[in-house]
Amino acid sequence: MAELEGFEFGKSDFVLLDEVTMEQFLDNLKMRFEKGRIYTYIGEVVVSVNPYRQMDIYGKDAIDAYRGRELYENPPHLYAVADAAYKAMKRRAKDTCIVISGESGAGKTEASKYIMQYIAAITNPSQRLEVESVKNVLLKSNCVLEAFGNAKTNRNDNSSRFGKYMDINFNFNGDPTGGHINNYLLEKSRVVQQQEGERNFHSFYQASSDDRCCHKAVMSALKVIGFTEAEINSIYKILSTILHLVSYSSSALTVGGALEQERQIFLSEGDAVQHIAELTSTEPESVNKALLYRTVATGGGEVIEKGHSEQEASYGRDAFAKALYERLFGWIVGRINSVIEVKDYNPALHGKNTVIGVLDIYGFEIFDNNSFEQFCINYCNEKLQQLFIELILKQEQAEYNREGITWQHIDYFNNQIIVDLVEQPHKGIISILDDACLTAGKVTDTVCLDSMNQKLGQHAHYTSRKLCPTDKTMEFNRHFRIRHYAGDVTYSVESFLDKNKDPLFQDFKRLMFNSLDPVLTEMWPDGKLSITEVTKRPLTAATLFKNSIIALVDKLACKEPYYVRCVKPNEVKSPMLFDEARCRHQVAYLGLLENVRVRRAGFAYRQPYERFLQRYKMTCEYTWPNHLMSSDREAVEAIVVQHGFEGDVAYGLTKLFVRTPRSLFTLEQERAAL
Ligand code: ATP
Ligand code: MG
Repeated sequence: MAELEGFEFGKSDFVLLDEVTMEQFLDNLKMRFEKGRIYTYIGEVVVSVNPYRQMDIYGKDAIDAYRGRELYENPPHLYAVADAAYKAMKRRAKDTCIVISGESGAGKTEASKYIMQYIAAITNPSQRLEVESVKNVLLKSNCVLEAFGNAKTNRNDNSSRFGKYMDINFNFNGDPTGGHINNYLLEKSRVVQQQEGERNFHSFYQASSDDRCCHKAVMSALKVIGFTEAEINSIYKILSTILHLVSYSSSALTVGGALEQERQIFLSEGDAVQHIAELTSTEPESVNKALLYRTVATGGGEVIEKGHSEQEASYGRDAFAKALYERLFGWIVGRINSVIEVKDYNPALHGKNTVIGVLDIYGFEIFDNNSFEQFCINYCNEKLQQLFIELILKQEQAEYNREGITWQHIDYFNNQIIVDLVEQPHKGIISILDDACLTAGKVTDTVCLDSMNQKLGQHAHYTSRKLCPTDKTMEFNRHFRIRHYAGDVTYSVESFLDKNKDPLFQDFKRLMFNSLDPVLTEMWPDGKLSITEVTKRPLTAATLFKNSIIALVDKLACKEPYYVRCVKPNEVKSPMLFDEARCRHQVAYLGLLENVRVRRAGFAYRQPYERFLQRYKMTCEYTWPNHLMSSDREAVEAIVVQHGFEGDVAYGLTKLFVRTPRSLFTLEQERAAL
């Protein structure tokens, strides 16, 4: 608890609320936001409210104030948590991670950048060149990832359209030696379609005049990271290719007339084809062919070329444009990883290589229309929530053990049942979806929904329209609902199968693999296969995502976690407005009240004896100005006895544990009255 400021700015730790109610929680959050205190603790968790204005709290002075200090020595701040994670990593050789969550626009990415800047600022005091260069690359990678992975949406002008987990490696000195980035579920559909008022990924505009200064920054970041001129050229050629692909969409392919005629027109007048061929170092005829025909293997092992229908051609082109971007993004991340990867590390020589992971990932999403993407994102949040509760409990338990205090059982909602509903083999939603995708013939979204209703209709967290026939928000044969830990979400099953299957004609892959541009060949290794060699059952999008999230959770679970929970105060990017309804909603689905309850279930508050004594010694005649007892612990006992709350505390090895916040208020009041 950071009580240095007193309570005039509200309570700096939610465990100190008189009662754990939504009303009290919101009152405190609001009061602090309005007084410019954007950070508040729940124990060691930081709750952050987006200030929507530049705050003077991130400068060098602030960094110095938090460096090497304990959480309770300063007002709540991201820096305090970054420092705690760093100290744990350095002093106890623990791998740690900082998990940042919250909805779009809540401030996750900004928080992750401040955390990285803090870590960069407090490490490598001797300014060793190779460490400085690693730090530089790590920081610059943010700029590149934002250019290619962020876009303006209606909720956030700089919205990350992918999940990011970055490991930073440290040597025994506590200096960064490298890192690794994992990216999750890039929203590639944005490449071909954006909602009204939204834009494509930033990268597409940066060569144009409006974003020229960003373009310069990205170019310089790419160079610092070590991308070669040729690679940078290839990147921009791929972006142009995509623009050509999506811009002819409404013209060339929808020219009226018979299909054969269209193909002719396209070939003879197709500027786009010419450009695409040049940009991708391929032959115009091959490009044209890949866009208008596909190679299929017949049952008899014969290989034939089949002309696309207009619809197939435009579907294929969109899939190609999306895949090009997705592979480009993946390749850029891989390329950054190859530069920051820790090389030549010898544990015997250099000591244990420790890690701090930073996770900046999409929060829970409930929109008017929820589709496959929301389904994946919300599943990811169920997994993270489960880990959160488990780890917070585990951490509490570990601290009690360390301090020699008896652990008492805490009741909490275990969302394993919802996780199982989604991911269980054979029975879960993903499995049913995959079965539908693998079934030959025409399985439609509605047929798949039927199958889900049949198999999951009895599940406590799944609802089909059949069960609530009067519900107007759910159309028969189109929707299903999941009761998530954060609330009910109704999903429209439309396009689920297609998005899950995510097909791309092999012809495009071969076209790219056979390009004379080595960067493209590298991005499309699977294009080497001919149609008869291609596996018929590639992993689906949901299964790939599930596997990546399970791997992520495994990674996080073996680290000591620190949490930043971000709240978006309003929908209009105002620094003044605290929209209570919106905040209430977020506090509920971030599970913050539950978090406070877990933290308070045993002992709401704990503090090292020395620190407690310093703060309250003036409230007791035996300890002021100095005590004559044999230990700080005894002196603390004297204070506790004098105020008569012996029944409310337990004495740990190094800390005093206080069950209810009330005892502390008495002390605070008395202290203030002196
Ligand atoms: P998304 O999920 O869409 O990526 P996000 O949670 O990452 O959203 P950010 O991009 O970090 O959100 O923040 C949105 C905007 O809010 C920033 O561009 C910035 O203008 C403002 N903002 C966020 N945090 C801060 C801060 N600590 N100080 C000042 N402004 C901030
Ligand atoms: Mg973001």
